[in-house]
Amino acid sequence: MALGPSTSAWRDSQKLSADAKVGPSGNDAFSFWKLQEEWRSRLGAAIDESQATAERYLFELYLSEKQRRPPAALGSYYRFRNFIPRPLRHWLNSAAIRARGHGGFPNWPCESVLLDFWRDWLDRALRSLDVEDGWHIGFWPHNARCCIVLTHDVESPLGVRRMEKMADIEQKYGFLSSWNLPLLEYPIDWSTVERLRARGFEIGAHGLAHDGKLFRSEADFAELGRELQRLAREHSMVGFRSPSTLRRAEWIGTMAFEYDSSFADTDPYEPQPGGTCSIFPFRLGSLIELPYTLPQDHTLMHLIHRDPVPLWHLKAQWIAAAGGMILALTHPDYMGAGEHLARYEEFLKRLRDLPDAWHALPSEVADWWRRRSRMQLCISGGQVVIKGDNTSGAVAARLRNHPLCA
Ligand SMILES: [Zn+2]
Repeated sequence: MALGPSTSAWRDSQKLSADAKVGPSGNDAFSFWKLQEEWRSRLGAAIDESQATAERYLFELYLSEKQRRPPAALGSYYRFRNFIPRPLRHWLNSAAIRARGHGGFPNWPCESVLLDFWRDWLDRALRSLDVEDGWHIGFWPHNARCCIVLTHDVESPLGVRRMEKMADIEQKYGFLSSWNLPLLEYPIDWSTVERLRARGFEIGAHGLAHDGKLFRSEADFAELGRELQRLAREHSMVGFRSPSTLRRAEWIGTMAFEYDSSFADTDPYEPQPGGTCSIFPFRLGSLIELPYTLPQDHTLMHLIHRDPVPLWHLKAQWIAAAGGMILALTHPDYMGAGEHLARYEEFLKRLRDLPDAWHALPSEVADWWRRRSRMQLCISGGQVVIKGDNTSGAVAARLRNHPLCA
């Protein structure tokens, strides 16, 4: 029997949920907040229900099955892409976006529906437990209020040549970052890459090439995904971002990476528009998903012609106020020289001034989120105790001190 779209969407979500439960925690509200274990059995059904609601956003299940895959029309675009001069390519992309329109959900540049859900769920839970406040495991290590992650996709040899200068500026403001490389698109100057790695920067896999093939069919994914994971292993890459952020959640969740960063919290401007509505990491199969949460430089500069810095600043402040993860995605190819680089530096200065922020590499955030999901907070003899194999950095915090529920 053929599965209709809704049945099959449900099947995919169940598969992802089942995978996400490989560890002790999924994407339910109890695991999001990491509440005290004594409450778990009393909240029973509300916890299960919260996972289904959250995953409707996290896995973009509010979109049709067709919308959760790369659009079929992209195939012909990619066949000619390399013959189209870059300015014309940008014009074509922005014309396509105008023609497509924006459905209005998720809102852009800020969508709060999932934050509202986490907060309302907690309010209801505390009321049903008849308590005013309680403890949870803080979202970030060492009591940080929010988290800042800088990532880059390097689209061409020009981008590779600009990496070190951009990295110098990041280090000047106390940041390290990750650089994602397409592994079979152009000859990569590995000496530059290894020098950056030696300085503490992270290197990730940006697929094999921007050709739209990886998620085109199950057969393509089986063949190209295998090659991609082999090359990534060879180069000690633990993170993945799909070229052009084309994606199929149920396939990405099976790959042998520690984290993925192919989803946005909201991005109506990508060839495959959508968004997880999440400014926090979450479980995607066996991976940790780190959605990028600032609009891409390329989108702002070339597609909608907006000055990136004020918009980034606004969004970064909004995320910091909610205690979330500011995850930037910029390209040295577009941002790494001249006036653009000066603007990027200006933004880094503003990011540096955000108080109590954890500056982290994506692999560190993924490791932290995985560890946090395995920890348990218990109250024993009036003492608050965090249990787990490795609880380093974990801090118990008062729920009402968190900006989401103050
Ligand atoms: Zn790219």
